[in-house]
Amino acid sequence: MKNTIKLIGIIAIIAMIAFSMFACNNETPDPCANGHAFPEWTAPTCTEDGNSLRTCSRCTQTDTRTEGYTALGCHLQSKMTQLYNLI
Ligand SMILES: [Zn+2]
Ligand SMILES: [Zn+2]
Repeated sequence: MKNTIKLIGIIAIIAMIAFSMFACNNETPDPCANGHAFPEWTAPTCTEDGNSLRTCSRCTQTDTRTEGYTALGCHLQSKMTQLYNLI
């Protein structure tokens, strides 16, 4: 009888610890409460596009851009100008 009460007591303590750990996990502060940590955009070069999507280094939040990342094409343009001048 005494052992049963003791066992129930131990189970209750374990349950309380488990519950408090679970509750603690829920209170983990948002690592991005003050803003996400996005890496710098990759700048486009003459022939290669830059990136249009970047991911926060602290969480899984992504950020996209719709302009300013496409290849500049200046080399192609200068090549075309050279060809045009030859003709
Ligand atoms: Zn983030
Ligand atoms: Zn160029």
